[in-house]
Amino acid sequence: MILPALTEAKSPFWRPIKYSLFPPLGLATLAAWCSPDDEVELQDEHVEELNTDDQPDLVIIQVYITNAFRAYAIADHYRKKGVYVCLGGLHVTSLPEEALPYADSIFTGPGEDTFPQFLLDFRNKTTRRIYVNMKRDIENIPPVRRDLIRREQYLVPNSIVVSRGCPHHCDFCYKDAFFQGGKSFYTQRVDEALSEISRLPGRHLYFLDDHLLGNQKFATDLFEGMKGMNRLFQGASTVEAILRGNLIEKAAEAGMRSVFIGFETLSNKNLLQSNKKQNLGKDYEAAIRRLNTLGIMINGSFVFGLDDDDTDVFSRTVDWAVGQGLTTSTFHILTPYPGTRLFQTMEAQGRILHRDWARYDTRQVVYQTNGLSAAELEAGYNRAYRDFYSWSNIAKASWQHETYRDKLKHFAYAGGWKKFEPLWNFMIKTRGLNRMLPLLESILSTEKNNRKGEHAPPFPAIA
Ligand code: SF4
Repeated sequence: MILPALTEAKSPFWRPIKYSLFPPLGLATLAAWCSPDDEVELQDEHVEELNTDDQPDLVIIQVYITNAFRAYAIADHYRKKGVYVCLGGLHVTSLPEEALPYADSIFTGPGEDTFPQFLLDFRNKTTRRIYVNMKRDIENIPPVRRDLIRREQYLVPNSIVVSRGCPHHCDFCYKDAFFQGGKSFYTQRVDEALSEISRLPGRHLYFLDDHLLGNQKFATDLFEGMKGMNRLFQGASTVEAILRGNLIEKAAEAGMRSVFIGFETLSNKNLLQSNKKQNLGKDYEAAIRRLNTLGIMINGSFVFGLDDDDTDVFSRTVDWAVGQGLTTSTFHILTPYPGTRLFQTMEAQGRILHRDWARYDTRQVVYQTNGLSAAELEAGYNRAYRDFYSWSNIAKASWQHETYRDKLKHFAYAGGWKKFEPLWNFMIKTRGLNRMLPLLESILSTEKNNRKGEHAPPFPAIA
C-alpha cells in the first residue's frame, strides 16, 4: 500500500514538518480487511524512500490531486512488472476516467464496502475495473491496522477518524464530490470509537474528522465516554457548532485543547459565493471568546482569492487573526478541485487556466482571478504567512490573552512551530519526531490540571 508524496512535499520551499504530521490512516484502515495471512506493507513517501523494486501480488495506491502524476508513474512501473495495481482516493473519485488507464481496478468514494469485495474478487480472479462505493456505514468495521504504521516517523501518530464527511456543502470542498450518490456524513458507533481511542498509547489524540462536532448526539456521547480517559485532543469544528448549545464545553471537559476552524473569509459575499452558509451571520468573535474561556487554542483557516477579495484582504485578515489572538493560522489560495461545484462553475465561466494537477496545491493560482491579479494573490498569500508569523505579530497575538502565563505560552509555541525549522528538520532526519510528543503532552496536562478555563498552549496543526 503506497501513499506517494504530494508534489509540494518535495519542494525545497515548503516545510518538511508539515508532511510528517499524520500517518496514512486511510490505507491502514483498508488494510484491516486483508486476511491475517496476507503480508501487507505500508509505504509513505512523505517520510521514507519508496522501495519499488519488490514484486508484490497487489499494489494499492492512494491518489490525491498533487500526487496524481507521481501515483500514475508508480502504477505504470508496477504494471510493467506484471503486478496488479489499484488506485483510489479523492482524485480518482473526482476523475475516474483519468485514473482508469493507469490501473487494473479503481475505487471511487470511501472503500469500506468496495475494498473487502475487491479482495474477495481478487482471490477468486473475478475482479472488475471499477468499484463504486454504495454502502455508507462504518459500524462494525475492523480495527485500523496501526501495526503497519511506523509511529516514530510522525509527529502525531495518534491520529484518528471516527466519522466520515461533514453535514455541510461548501462549494470549494472535496466532500460532496467524494460522497456523491449517498450519505455524506455518518459516524462510527460510540462504543467502537471509544475502543479505538483506548487502544492508542499515550495521551494525545488528533481527530482528523472534517467536523468532530457535526453530529450533536454522537459527539455528546463520545465526549461523555472520553471523560476520565485522561486524554488531550485536537479536532475540527465550525463556528456554528461552537456557538450552539454546550457541546464545546463537553469537548473541553473530555480533553479538547485545540480546534481547527474554517473561518475562510471575513466577507459575507465570499461566504455566499462559497455556499458556506453555516458561517453566514455567525459571530466569529463570540466563538473565539468562548474557546478562550475554555482554554481551547484556535487554528484558523482562511481562503484568499474569492471574488469579493481585493488587494487589502491579506492585511485585513492577518490583522483580524492577530487581534483575535489566534494561535496559528492556515492560509490557502482558492483552488477549484475537479469534481467540486467550484470547479464546475469556474469551468462554465471559462476561468480554469490549466489542468496541471501538481500545481493545484492551494499555493498557486490556477484560475482566472477577479478583483486582484494572480501575481497580487500569490504575493499577498505569501505575505499573509510572513506577517502572521512575524515575531512582532506573534508577540501581539500572544498579548491578546489575559494572563502573563498565557501570553508567554502563545509566544513560545507559535514561535516554536514556525521559527525553528532546523530543529524540526533535525528531528525528522534523526527519526525522533515522536520524542516531541511527551513534552507537548506534559505541558498540555499541566495546563489542564492547574488552570482549568484558561488557555492551553498551541499544538501545531497544519499551519
Ligand atoms: S464545513 Fe469544511 S468539511 Fe464541511 S463541506 Fe465545508 S469545507 Fe468541507
